[in-house]
Amino acid sequence: MVLPPKDHPRYKSLLAREKLVDASDIVAKQGLIAHGRGEAFDYLLGEQTCLPALSAIKAACTAILSAKNPVISVNGNVVALAAREIARLAEVSGAKVEVNLFHRTPERVTGLTKMMKGVGVDALGENADDLIPGLSSERAKCCSDGIGAADVVLVPLEDGDRCEALVKMGKKVITIDLNPLSRTAETAHITIVDELTRCLPLLSDFIKEKNGIDSFDNKECLRDVLNYISDRLKS
Ligand code: ATP
Repeated sequence: MVLPPKDHPRYKSLLAREKLVDASDIVAKQGLIAHGRGEAFDYLLGEQTCLPALSAIKAACTAILSAKNPVISVNGNVVALAAREIARLAEVSGAKVEVNLFHRTPERVTGLTKMMKGVGVDALGENADDLIPGLSSERAKCCSDGIGAADVVLVPLEDGDRCEALVKMGKKVITIDLNPLSRTAETAHITIVDELTRCLPLLSDFIKEKNGIDSFDNKECLRDVLNYISDRLKS
């Protein structure tokens, strides 16, 4: 990996790109495009956690603390960018981690499982024996003791179809997506409109401190995020 100079004003952003390129054998090329879309929205948000996102993180904290079988679903982008942050979240919450891919190949699942093992997490995913109903082919595959049995699923950087399919299965779905207009953002029960590596440590801290909120309306939260962006643009 070519490390960007630490004094570069866009150090964090360049480092994230390097991490994704470095993991190009296990991150789908489509994932690079999704990352670019996320970066654009992060500019609009001022590259900071806005107040509505903070409420969503606290609502996610409550949902995860109240869950019987919480599962964190990870894909190539999530592992390449935030394997350590996911490991800490799994540790403080007791949630299982499952490698669950849209562009699924056995090689990518094995590679990502190994990367999670490198940060101390035994991720599920290699022995997928269950299906998410309503999805075609490889992207439907999941584990019966992971996503199959979960009551609460955190699916960062998810695609709208799969998010909807999980909601239809009766799961409580939490997502992290910088795009407040995406189908995923609109379909999930709790949408954290924030950058993955910025909000995961906050979520872990809140879970550790049991610092959640009970009252939360996702539609209202998304409206608040759009108003926040709009106010920033106007000023
Ligand atoms: P949908 O199907 O939900 O309408 P989509 O087709 O854009 O959305 P994907 O292509 O899977 O779905 O994209 C996942 C989304 O994740 C991107 O649109 C982007 O906004 C978001 N994203 C990318 N990188 C990050 C990141 N580091 N942190 C948070 N969100 C991100």
